[in-house]
Order: sequence, then structure tokens, then C-alpha cells
Amino acid sequence: MGKLDGRVVIVTGAARGQGEQEARLFVAEGASVVVADVLDDQGKKLAEELGSLYVHLDVGEEADWHAAVAAAKEAYGHVDGLVNNAGILRFNALLDTPLDEFMQVVRVNQVGCFLGVKAVAPEMADGGTIVNTASYTGVTGMAAVGAYAATKHAIVGLTRVAALELAPRHIRVNAMCPGAIDTAMANPARLDPAADPEEASRALDGLYRKLVPLGRIGRPEEVARLALFLSCDDSSYITGQPFVIDGGWLAGVSIV
Ligand code: NAD
Repeated sequence: MGKLDGRVVIVTGAARGQGEQEARLFVAEGASVVVADVLDDQGKKLAEELGSLYVHLDVGEEADWHAAVAAAKEAYGHVDGLVNNAGILRFNALLDTPLDEFMQVVRVNQVGCFLGVKAVAPEMADGGTIVNTASYTGVTGMAAVGAYAATKHAIVGLTRVAALELAPRHIRVNAMCPGAIDTAMANPARLDPAADPEEASRALDGLYRKLVPLGRIGRPEEVARLALFLSCDDSSYITGQPFVIDGGWLAGVSIV
């Protein structure tokens, strides 16, 4: 018995990184997963490997959401899970951030989550789950990522409101707040064919050894296990909460 037997879950930004690991784990736990992304070649390849459906879904486009939900229902008959995972990061000091860049981050991270909840929740059977991917920067500040941190705080707020409004239909809504995770977002060497991503990972472990109590960067598989917990009955009495997964980074400072 898998923890997600019979469930149909849409995972956005699933072509790589955390979304890919979520898709892999959810399929292993019995779910039918809709792999959704704008990276069509990578997404299709993964979906083919997993025996899943791939949909092109730009999370900032409402029409794409309606098409994705329709495709999911046509393929599997129903939808009862959503992981809003797609996200982008831009580095800039607030005062140097052009409005266009700020709005680009808002469009993907914040509007994308909102549209996902709006498009999928009405189609969900009672007992559905939504997991929104916020961030460590959704619950604390971080210099040089102002647009990103603003959207991730917004996702935590959206999660709480959605949880309240959807609870009567037994749809649970929670948020994940990852610290630094070893994907292309934190480890751009993963996108560079000339680089050795594992060597870059070891270098990042060295950096985070100083910052993070558990002494290393997190792995996307670890976030996928939190997404699974929040998407299955193991979390049946939990809704409206942000879950920090950061190796203890937010626990406080150590003076020894
Ligand atoms: P990643 O860059 O490897 O993956 C992001 C995925 O989102 C990619 O597949 C990308 O194509 C997709 N995407 C981007 N724009 C999209 C759009 N408009 N529509 C659909 N898909 C789109 O990085 P990741 O670490 O796997 O990121 C997953 C989530 O985790 C993001 O929401 C990110 O903000 C969040 N997060 C990451 C970290 C980290 O350190 N890696 C930390 C905290 C939170």
C-alpha cells in the first residue's frame, strides 16, 4: 500500500529540482502525478519515465491552469492534490530592483500559487490537499532577495486564508518553508554542462556548515518527503501551517 494510492496530484515546476523529486516520490507512493512545467523537454522526459501525464503550465497564466486541470481530469477522472512548487529567484538590493523584475517574481511565485488554488480547489473532491512552496524567506528576512522574500511571505498568508476557506470541504492547505536546498536555484552548477554539480554540492556543504546547525545544504528528496507528509493522511489534522525545513538555520544563533 502506498501513502497516495488512488490520488491524482498536480506538481508544478516538476521538470527538475524539488518538483522532480516530489513527482518521483508521489508516483512511488501510488499517486498519478501530473508533471507541469514550462521546461517541456525535461518535463516530458520525466513524465515518460514515470508513466505520468505532462502538461505545459506557465503558473502565471490562468488559461494554462484551466487547460491543465481539464487534461488531468480527462486522463485520470479527478484531481485531489496540488503541489504549488514552481518558483523563481532574482538577486537584487531592494532599491536597485526594477519594477519589471519585482513583478516577474510576483507573477510566478505569488500569482502562480493563487491561480493554482483558484483553478484546482473547485475541482477537488472532499479530502484534497494543497501544498504551497514558500521558503525560509517566507518567515524571516534575507538581504538581496527582497522581491522573492515578499512573495514567499505572501504565500504563507495565502496558505492560511485558503486553509480557513477550504476547511469546510475538508481540503487541507499547508506551506513548506525550505532553507537552502541543493537544486539549480541554490546550486547553478546543476545547469552548467561543463561544471561538476557534485563538487559544487560539496562546496555548498562547506559554506552551510558554518550557517546551518545540521551542517550542510538540504536535499530536494528531503523536501519531497515533507510534501508527501502534507499530502497524505499522516497529516490529517494539520492545515493552515508553514513548515520550516532548514537544518535548524532559523532556530537561532549559537555563541559557542
Ligand atoms: P529549480 O529552479 O530547480 O526549480 C524550479 C522549477 O520551477 C523549474 O522546473 C522551472 O522550470 C519551474 N518554473 C519556473 N517558472 C515557472 C512558471 N512560470 N511556470 C511553471 N513552472 C515554472 O529550483 P527548486 O529549488 O526546485 O525550486 C522549487 C521551489 O522551491 C521554488 O518555489 C523555490 O522558490 C522554492 N525554494 C527553493 C529553495 C532552494 O534553496 N533551492 C529554498 C526555498 C524555497
